[in-house]
This record gives sequence, structure tokens and C-alpha cells, in this order.
Amino acid sequence: MGQRLVDSFGRMHRDLRISVTDRCNFRCTYCMPEEGMAWLPRRELLTYEEIERVARLFVERYGFESIRLTGGEPTVRAHLPVLIEKLSRLPVDLALTTNGVSLRLLARDLAVAGLTRINISLDSLRAERFAAMTRRDSLAEVLAGIDAALDAGLAPVKVNVVVMRGVNDDELVDFAAFGRARGVTVRFIEYMPLDAAGAWTNEQVVGRDEIVATIGSVFPLEAVGRPDGAPAERFRFADGGGEIGVIPSVTNPFCGSCDRVRLTAEGQLRNCLFALTELDLRSLLRRGASDDEIGAAIQQAVATKSAGHLINQPVFIRPPRSMSQIGG
Ligand code: SAM
Ligand code: SF4
Repeated sequence: MGQRLVDSFGRMHRDLRISVTDRCNFRCTYCMPEEGMAWLPRRELLTYEEIERVARLFVERYGFESIRLTGGEPTVRAHLPVLIEKLSRLPVDLALTTNGVSLRLLARDLAVAGLTRINISLDSLRAERFAAMTRRDSLAEVLAGIDAALDAGLAPVKVNVVVMRGVNDDELVDFAAFGRARGVTVRFIEYMPLDAAGAWTNEQVVGRDEIVATIGSVFPLEAVGRPDGAPAERFRFADGGGEIGVIPSVTNPFCGSCDRVRLTAEGQLRNCLFALTELDLRSLLRRGASDDEIGAAIQQAVATKSAGHLINQPVFIRPPRSMSQIGG
């Protein structure tokens, strides 16, 4: 160890997001098309051994402190606890982002394998709307999945809500009440232009200020702040009933303190969610490159990270991949 991964703006990187699959058992409207998504053939995915090698390099050589597994839907990849068990041997905070639909069956195995934290996506508490947004009628399973995660001792359990104008923005207060009742932190995410259909418009974004004002008018809130490198701004309920988070990726992005890199399911390293270029780590791994060679390529890829995304500016170019293909 001893080296650090620093970009040309002086940002030190510590957080690795690993997508374990591009597949998903949902088709959320803001993420995937209803049909026609071409999945990667199995041989194109990094194996668990390849993922472990890359993760180890980031942790042991560059002092990474946090690894989050995502996708697509990570729980559709076979034997996920095997990967968790391998990665849990590294000295990192190990987390998972999931749609929660399989957690009734999996939460305990994941916890036993060494997972600590979990984020569960849930965009509506109304069954019909949930089915329309995810294109799968599974609200009851996801709610049971949240309970299963709590019962398995995964902590903290956070619930992620993508807020879309005219779709679920009338449920902000319901979600705040849900979080208070269940003892989970609900985090409201501003809708980003990473939907597969390319249908995103600025008018569909419900911004941080509106989210906080709406919830605060019913449950008064106090700002807690945003720790360096954290995407969420935190607000606590003034009566001590817990807290909420808002991820203002569009109206107030955290690019200035971003400490993340992302590895796609087929082994492409991305230095930003909105990056237009990638480093082909899989080719390096499969042609037998040494850790030094791979490390040098990673340093180069991080060094060239841009200052921030340019959503809302005329020069903004959408990445050709959707959120499910990048690994959110
Ligand atoms: N399938 C898992 C899930 O849904 O949690 C993990 C992958 S998903 C791509 C990761 C996160 O990205 C989820 O919280 C999801 O709500 C969020 N997401 C997907 N598309 C988004 C978009 N266009 N804008 C904002 N967040 C998005
Ligand atoms: Fe699947 Fe997650 Fe994308 Fe929904 S947000 S389609 S669950 S990858």
C-alpha cells in the first residue's frame, strides 16, 4: 500500500463500485427499456476470481476503503454469497445495492458471507404504481425483503427512491413516514439522464429543495450536512425520528469531492458515471498483465477524470450506456 489514486484535480479515490451483472429481473422505466436489452454473454463477464483480483489491487495498493456491489441486479448472478465471502476478507466496508426482490431468500446468506450494509431501491409504496415503474408486480416481495435485511442484521439498511415529477413525487411524505416507522433511512435520488430510452428531461427532475421543503412541511427537518465524498445530503427529523438523505446529482452534484471509480460487469473501468471513455481492464487481466501494469493503467485512467458532469449545459453528452449497464 502507501500509494494513492489521485486525479488531476487532487481528488483522492477510495470507493470502488463493481457491477457483477448487466442483467435484471426488473425493467425500471428510468433505467431500462421494457424489452430489447441485449445481455452480455456469460464469457464476457468478469469471473469472481477476476473481480477479486481487481478489488484486492484497489484495496492493497491504493488504500480503497469501500466496495459496493451493484448491477444490473446483483442478486441475479449465481452464487453471489461466494463473491461476498471473497471480498469480505479485504479490510473494506462492503455494501450491496439491490432491488430487494430476492432478499427474503438471500439476506441471511449475504450477511453470513460478510456483507455489512445494504441499499434497497423502492420507488413507490403503491402496488399499481410500483408495478408500472418497475414493470414487475413485486411490491410485497420488496417490502418483505426490507424486513429480511433488517432481521439478518444488515446495518444500516437504506432505501433509495428515484423521484420523478408527475410519477411518484406525491409520495415524498409517505416515504418519510415509512422510513420513520421501519427505522430505515430513506434517500431520495434526483432523476438522472441515464435512462435507456433517452427520454429524460429536466422538467422530470424533482430537485433537492423541493423534496426537503415538502417533507419538512410535515416532519420538520434539520440539515446535518454532506460528509466529504458522500453523495447524499443528510437531514434529521427535528423530533428525533431518524433521518433522510437527498442525492442531488442534478441540482447540486458532489463531483468536487467524488472519490469513486466504477467497474462494469465486463471489466471496463469508468472514472465517472458520465464518462465517455473506459479502460479495458478485462483485456489486461486476460492477457496476463502484472499488477504493476494494471496499476499503471488504472492510475492513468483516474488521472484523466474530468472535473464534473455537465448535465444542464449545452455541451453535455449522454454516455451511450444506461444506468443498468454502467452499474449505478
Ligand atoms: N438493481 C439494483 C437496484 O435497483 O438497486 C442496482 C443497480 S441500479 C442501476 C442502482 C441505483 O441506480 C438504484 O438505486 C436505481 O434506483 C438508481 N438509478 C437507476 N437509473 C437511474 C436514473 N436514471 N437516475 C437516478 N438513479 C437511477
Ligand atoms: Fe434493474 Fe436496478 Fe435498473 Fe431497476 S434500477 S431496472 S432494478 S438495474
